[in-house]
Amino acid sequence: MNSMTITILGSGSKGNAFVIQHESSIIMIDAGFILNDILFRMKSANIAISSIQALLISHGHSDHINGLSDLNRYASIPVYMTESLFLSSTGATSASPPAWLDLDKDRVIFFKEWNNISIGSIAVTPIPVSHDSISPVGFIMKAGNKKLSLVTDTGEISRAGKDAMKDSNVIMLESNHDNEMLWKSPRHFLLKKRISSTTGHLNNEKSAEILSEIISPNTSDVVLLHLSQECNTPELAVKSVMDRNRSVKDGAIKLHVARQNEITRIHVKSTAANEKE
Ligand SMILES: [Zn+2]
Ligand SMILES: [Zn+2]
Repeated sequence: MNSMTITILGSGSKGNAFVIQHESSIIMIDAGFILNDILFRMKSANIAISSIQALLISHGHSDHINGLSDLNRYASIPVYMTESLFLSSTGATSASPPAWLDLDKDRVIFFKEWNNISIGSIAVTPIPVSHDSISPVGFIMKAGNKKLSLVTDTGEISRAGKDAMKDSNVIMLESNHDNEMLWKSPRHFLLKKRISSTTGHLNNEKSAEILSEIISPNTSDVVLLHLSQECNTPELAVKSVMDRNRSVKDGAIKLHVARQNEITRIHVKSTAANEKE
């Protein structure tokens, strides 16, 4: 069937992994759980690991690459990442960790921001985001006549980034923390500063504001990602989006909240190109 299926194996500060399927093309984005956990989650979601044709990496923080090396060895899946992230993993530059990332170069394919990658029927464009790690990216995906944006781990989104996300049928966007909960939390001042900076994470308000700029008549689903378990609640994140976005409040757009330890699945049916949505 010419539809798109999005499976979130889990999202939050303890691990992130996503599977996108269109017809016979299946890609995975990030491998932020240890291998056994990825295998368990895939089995629960009824996805065969051998069906994954590409693994794309957003950035090198452990909650996005925890299972990467083991998965790469276990399933021989081609890994797509930026060259600078790979070089940092081999210690070829003086850049920050992950020095422990251990990948077979033959199975690594480098991508550049804004350059298209084609994996079967899915076209992916990595877009730069603003995060304190090496060459972090979000992904815009097109398959059939559907468009999906997946952007997490960013303190802000540039004008060009927002323009690229416009007209998405499905918008998956970080809504990391509630600002008040973050500042009241017992975390170290410097960590609070890091998280709330323009190279940290999007809070509920910023996320809701960005959504109001990019939601269009084409948008059918919005998925909030990477909620902090200590400094956010699904209710607060949902309220922020509903307060600012009437079409979400009215129910014209479905709002989903991805969880750390639950699988979220969204089916997006393709419509004829000339059919009005
Ligand atoms: Zn990160
Ligand atoms: Zn993260």
